[in-house]
Amino acid sequence: MTTHNIVSLSGGKDSTATLLVAIALETPNLQAVFADTGNEHELTYAYLDYLEKATGIRLTRVRADFTKRIEGKRRFIETKWREQGISESVVLAALDVLQPTGNPFLDLCIWKGRFPSRKAQFCTMELKRDPMLEQVIMPLMGKGDMLISWQGVRADESLNRRYLPECDEVGGGLFNYRPILKWDIPAVFEAHRYMGIKPNPLYSQGMGRVGCMPCINCRKDELREIALRFPEVIDRIERWESITQLASKYGAATFFAGSNAKHPRGSIAGLSAAEIMEIACIRQAVEWSKTARGGIQFDLLIETDSSACSSAYGLCESTWEPVNIKGAA
Ligand code: SF4
Repeated sequence: MTTHNIVSLSGGKDSTATLLVAIALETPNLQAVFADTGNEHELTYAYLDYLEKATGIRLTRVRADFTKRIEGKRRFIETKWREQGISESVVLAALDVLQPTGNPFLDLCIWKGRFPSRKAQFCTMELKRDPMLEQVIMPLMGKGDMLISWQGVRADESLNRRYLPECDEVGGGLFNYRPILKWDIPAVFEAHRYMGIKPNPLYSQGMGRVGCMPCINCRKDELREIALRFPEVIDRIERWESITQLASKYGAATFFAGSNAKHPRGSIAGLSAAEIMEIACIRQAVEWSKTARGGIQFDLLIETDSSACSSAYGLCESTWEPVNIKGAA
């Protein structure tokens, strides 16, 4: 029986530090896995290439594929939407746009006809957990081997993570191991420095969190920073909104606004699709991010809760706070 050690890598500081711990401990049969959501900044892709080269550890990149589910959705629309009396122009627009693009995040939204939200956070499961399970973990487990899943979570990141054990058994030979659970942020960057590994350059460009850019849970200050430094990201999300909108039965799909999104006139309930797109789109969210208190309120842009992304498995980095990377590079 072989023991496999797999580090879930996001390109963020915590998962990188976890990989560095595994390397420092001379862990046998070590490999890293990165679930590519298609919504990452290109600096993260470049950083992962650097990391793979600098550490010599094999990095497996996995991507979710929604081709079959999009095909199924097309059949559903052709029959059920018509039976439900959805207008023919909406049906035809959806059928037109329901084609796999190869970008996992966009394909997920097209398939669902909406963006994920804080209350329906299907992105972590569909884009990260399941591809890792299906493409890396299950094939290894099938051989009867033991597998240790190294997760870069820290207790001080969120309530969800505070009471996690350092090690637990999932069953069937699969174990979770969280070697940096008790670490603080300076220790994380110290590990980079000690091992001679640069942190993701996004940390020195105003980003406190690395992962989807933007994350559907991103905070007001983070959105403002992204719009300022990486306007092309906002352009991309705007394009995704116009595509996903066409795949929606309701004719509206905005990156941040879920069904309970608010705006100065109250809830979006009862508004037309055009009105929703006008007041709750990414451009309006960016405008709001530049305001002080007040202005348009988006429920899903949380000013105070930095734990919104806190998957217990460390699949989405949750920290959004200024980080001091002095001496880490
Ligand atoms: S980083 Fe945010 S948007 Fe991306 S998968 Fe995680 S929760 Fe979803």
